[in-house]
Amino acid sequence: MTRDKHHKHHDSALKVNQGVEQPESVSKSAVDRYKKISRQLFLPEEYFRGIINGDRTMLSRAITLIESTNKNHQEIAQEVIEKCLPLSGRSLRIGITGVPGVGKSTFIEALGKKLTSSGHQLAVLAIDPSSSRTKGSILGDKTRMEALATDKNAFIRPSPSAGSLGGVARKTRESIILCEAAGFDVIFVETVGVGQSETAVNAMVDFFLLLMLPGAGDELQGIKRGIMEMADAIFINKADGDNLKKAQRAKTEYQNALHLYPPTESGWVPKVGTCSAMTHEGIEEVWDTIKQYESLTKSNGFFEQKRQEQKLMLMFDAIDQKLKNDFYLNKTMKAALDAVREEVLSDKISSYVAAQRLVALYYGEKKR
Ligand code: GDP
Repeated sequence: MTRDKHHKHHDSALKVNQGVEQPESVSKSAVDRYKKISRQLFLPEEYFRGIINGDRTMLSRAITLIESTNKNHQEIAQEVIEKCLPLSGRSLRIGITGVPGVGKSTFIEALGKKLTSSGHQLAVLAIDPSSSRTKGSILGDKTRMEALATDKNAFIRPSPSAGSLGGVARKTRESIILCEAAGFDVIFVETVGVGQSETAVNAMVDFFLLLMLPGAGDELQGIKRGIMEMADAIFINKADGDNLKKAQRAKTEYQNALHLYPPTESGWVPKVGTCSAMTHEGIEEVWDTIKQYESLTKSNGFFEQKRQEQKLMLMFDAIDQKLKNDFYLNKTMKAALDAVREEVLSDKISSYVAAQRLVALYYGEKKR
């Protein structure tokens, strides 16, 4: 959608806008660089030493192993993760989402520079399962987050370019552990807010920030309720110039909309604000909000509780994933599924009975 079209559709501030065209996907040189790194292997202990001594190249290499599908790489990666685990958990993990074009990378650069210049060590990771296929890739090209990319207190890592959402999410979760062991005290996990990856990101961060575009109007249409409910803060970005009024109006609308939601378990009242990643107006307020959230939830115990729940949730997700993969990738099951499909479609057997039979077959098959 072009900007013009976007402006014509200002019927509601709560509509999830499409955003603008994005720069090209992951640059080839970035991909080549990672490939090259992955060819050279070290011992798990060497990666670990490098990581805790602040060696960025070793951190990058270890993350490359996490992303690799090679069995040997995976084994080394798991050992490195084990070693890093006791040193992890000390950062503030912040999820940042919004539609392509809302200004996520501009925002991350603005807040990121502010943080690194006040002594923070910032790692920016990305979840973007679509990055290999579509525009809207988060990193890899040189034009985005240029200032942070060359900042010695920042570490930017593009999204793994291939894989299912579950796979990409797991890799990001594991990369967080390594980054924390490396001493990063603030972690941004960026995701493209198109409705798929938010839940996965929410399951790995402490604070979830939703960036929105200023719209106008008063309808509650087009709003992705699920995403809004997850947000600990909604900031309307691009609140500058001609957009200022629209952004204010949007802010009021979101505030009203949020009032309709049940109180949060954390005791935190989600905050709505406006900001401009371009002029930096309101960026300070975003950080203050995050710090207030941290302070409240650390004192009432929710911060730790959420992290504990996330660990268990990840374990159950991994079990689900493993069971599903084993079932669906099993050759006998593939054939049996094909055979039963027709019977279900033609009402020869019910869906439920078919499922029971297939599962029974699977367990019978496993015993053999
Ligand atoms: P992303 O796709 O969400 O990462 O969005 P980008 O950060 O790439 O920004 C998309 C476009 O919006 C770029 O042309 C930015 O210069 C512009 N932009 C980002 N933030 C602001 C802002 O606060 N105000 C204005 N006016 N433009 C912005």
